[in-house]
Amino acid sequence: MAEAGGALILIVEDNDENLKLARDVLQWSGYRTVEATTGEAAVARASEHLPDLILMDIQLPGGLDGIAAFQRIRRDGATAHIPVVAFTASVMTSDRERFTAAGFDGFMAKPINVREFPDQVRAFCERGRAAR
Ligand code: MN
Repeated sequence: MAEAGGALILIVEDNDENLKLARDVLQWSGYRTVEATTGEAAVARASEHLPDLILMDIQLPGGLDGIAAFQRIRRDGATAHIPVVAFTASVMTSDRERFTAAGFDGFMAKPINVREFPDQVRAFCERGRAAR
């Protein structure tokens, strides 16, 4: 099992079921979580909580989609170092290339694989720490 060490994960997701599943799996694995359901809230939570990792849904309600929210987080010196992973149902190569080109640290597919998800999250957290 992942050794979460109480790392704090910001889950940005507007779908209730996806949000609940990610939250439950992460908390069960020893992570702490905070949540946002819009891009604006994601930017606010990131600077309030300075999470160890952000899982960013791309399609979000309101004025900021996941890419725009990600760009704000990267432009703010206080949050620029936080690894951000596109949390996406898209399996299209063109979309994944778009996320990589935008500067995301990676992507994780929805629906999540409950068994693999904690280890995937841990790997991204460790990569973020190593890069700092
Ligand atoms: Mn969405």
